[in-house]
Amino acid sequence: MATKQHNQSDCQEYLQQISDYIDGDLRPELCAKLEKHMSGCTNCTVVVNTLKRTIELYQVEEDSTDLPEDAKKRLYSRLSLDDFLK
Ligand SMILES: [Zn+2]
Repeated sequence: MATKQHNQSDCQEYLQQISDYIDGDLRPELCAKLEKHMSGCTNCTVVVNTLKRTIELYQVEEDSTDLPEDAKKRLYSRLSLDDFLK
């Protein structure tokens, strides 16, 4: 019953790229790395899925392509990601 070792410092690095990834601003090779990491990391997958859903809601309501910074911060803090983003 060996669980794959979860490396939090990896997550921290990837989570800092997630908003760029969702905005489509992340370089393709970094996207590939992030997607590879997410395939083995529930933590980051949940973050990306939640952010995507939140941004979709914003786009419907605000007709905007950008999630406001304060909304991102609120979302991160609701997800208890403050530790990751320090
Ligand atoms: Zn991760």
